[in-house]
Amino acid sequence: MSEVSVNRLVEFVKAHYGTNEFIPLHAPVFRGSEQTYVANTIASTFVSSVGEYVNRFEQDMATYTGAEAAVATVNGTAALHVGLRLAGVSQGDLVITQALTFVATCNAIHYCGAEPVFIDVDEFTLGLSPGAMESWLQEHASLDGSGACIERETGRKIAACMPMHTFGHPADLAGLVEVCERWSIPLVEDAAESLGSFYQGRHTGTFGTVAALSFNGNKIITTGGGGMILSGAETARRAKHLTTTAKKPHPYEYVHDEVGYNYRLPNINAALGVAQLEQLPDFLAEKRALADDYRQLFRGTEFQFVDEPDGCRSNFWLNAVLCPDEASRNHLLEMTNANNVMTRPVWQLMCDLPMYQHCTRGELNTSRSIAQRLVNLPSSVKPA
Ligand SMILES: *Cc1c(COP(=O)(O)O)cnc(C)c1O
Repeated sequence: MSEVSVNRLVEFVKAHYGTNEFIPLHAPVFRGSEQTYVANTIASTFVSSVGEYVNRFEQDMATYTGAEAAVATVNGTAALHVGLRLAGVSQGDLVITQALTFVATCNAIHYCGAEPVFIDVDEFTLGLSPGAMESWLQEHASLDGSGACIERETGRKIAACMPMHTFGHPADLAGLVEVCERWSIPLVEDAAESLGSFYQGRHTGTFGTVAALSFNGNKIITTGGGGMILSGAETARRAKHLTTTAKKPHPYEYVHDEVGYNYRLPNINAALGVAQLEQLPDFLAEKRALADDYRQLFRGTEFQFVDEPDGCRSNFWLNAVLCPDEASRNHLLEMTNANNVMTRPVWQLMCDLPMYQHCTRGELNTSRSIAQRLVNLPSSVKPA
């Protein structure tokens, strides 16, 4: 049974991409105006830190997501770092997040001098579980005199909650917003993987104080490297200031009023982004069709296709299946990779990495079960 399913998967992926050559997990595709727009930046000499494509990319992204404002950054990790700072995270604070995530989520917390608290994920979203977060808070936190949420044992402030929309599937945002409001914790969404994903009709990354997107080469659209901060207008002004060396506008003087960052997105990268964003609706349609085929392929097998949660519209950035156990996962990984079809297990849990091993955590049973059984499948849009 298992052997048959794996063979059918390999045959399906090869037929879908029409090749016997190596099939990567996720490769960028440039089928629109990328060459023209990038060439324009070179012709104009505005390839670097100022230029029209940066403004256009920010405006187009705000329009697409429905966010009040968008600020482009050099990568998604930088967007997360500044996003956390804008939410008020500083030295010695705690930030609630999930153990099942990419390392950048936790690194951004660390850059603020804060530490992650690892809470379990929900099985059907793969995102931070509001129920698990509420339980942990009831056991370990209280609101102090000023209304701030404090870890009782250490007195450390729980300064933010940062869920991640795993593989583009929205986390339970209604539940998370409710828990965050009850405990006065700012919500910062790691929406790096979820451009094009909607929760009850609203774009992911517009539910909290601030959110981060990524346009790394493996994401649904790419700028080579790049990211975006989504927020309200006032927060966006602060974001722009902090990400551009905190320079005050002046015709010629260098006036910097705080320690800022050089986190700007170069105009040449933004040109790529504008062209890619124009194609996002097509990419989303193709990815949804591929997800439909994967769902059909695994129906009635021992493999469980990871589907979009109820009430959500996922971007299906990276398709995934849950295997019945670790042994069958390993078998699937070996058989596909040996046959030129790239597949990967999910990240190691953050709480098991050497630099985050000491961090506080709740129960992580679902995270552990998923980490042992999940396999990501080739999900690229087809080249031109
Ligand atoms: C890609 C990604 C990021 C940020 O990535 P950059 O490579 O810095 O753009 C952050 N968090 C998650 C979950 C990601 O997948």
